[in-house]
Amino acid sequence: MSQIEYEQLVREILSCTKCPLHRYRRRPVPGEGRLDAEIMIVGEAPGEKEDEQGRPFVGPAGQLLTKILNSLGISREQVYITNVVKCRPPENRDPTPEEIKSCLPYLIRQILIIRPKVIICLGRHSAREILKLCGLRESEVSQISKIRGKIFNVKFMGEHDVTVVPTYHPAAALYNPRLRTYIAEDIKKAIEIAQGKHRVERSSILDYLG
Ligand code: SF4
Repeated sequence: MSQIEYEQLVREILSCTKCPLHRYRRRPVPGEGRLDAEIMIVGEAPGEKEDEQGRPFVGPAGQLLTKILNSLGISREQVYITNVVKCRPPENRDPTPEEIKSCLPYLIRQILIIRPKVIICLGRHSAREILKLCGLRESEVSQISKIRGKIFNVKFMGEHDVTVVPTYHPAAALYNPRLRTYIAEDIKKAIEIAQGKHRVERSSILDYLG
C-alpha cells in the first residue's frame, strides 16, 4: 500500500507546477531511500547538482553528509533523504514562505508513508517547518543554534510519534568546518535513538521550554 502511495506521490512531484519554482528547475527532486527507513533526513531545498541529477544531497554538501553518515557506521541506503521543497530555488536563494507552503503537503505525505522513528532536520528551514507540524510555535524553533542537538519527542501531525533532532545544514559546514563536529554529534545521537541505545529521560519539549 505504501509503495503504491509513494509512487503516486513521486509522480505528482515530478509533474508539479504548484509554485513558481517549477519554472526554474531542471528536475524536481522527490527524495530517495528506503520506505521502511527508521531515520529520515530532511534538508531545505535541492542545489545545482541535485537539480541536474534529480537526486537529493549529491553535491558537495551531500558528499559531506554521506561522509558523516559513513563515519558513524550507516550508509545512505539505510535512510530516507529528502528536502522541504522539491525544486531548486534560483541562485540557491532561500525558498519563500509561499513556496514552502505549496510544497509542504508532499513532505507531510512522505513522512506519513515512511513513518520514521527519527527525523534529522538539516538547517533552520527544515527544523522550523517540521517542528511546527509537531505543534511547536515558530518562536520556539526559529533559531537553529539554540535547538540543534536537542531531542524533541513529538507527535507529527497529531498522529505519528517521532523523535526530531535538528542540526546544522552540511552546506554551512563546508564554510565553517567547526560545524562538522556538531553535525556528526547530532546525527550520532539520532542514530542511537533509532537503534534504541540512547535513553530519553523525558519529553524534550519540556527540556527545551525549561
Ligand atoms: S517546489 Fe514543490 S510545490 Fe513548487 S513546483 Fe516544485 S514540487 Fe511543486
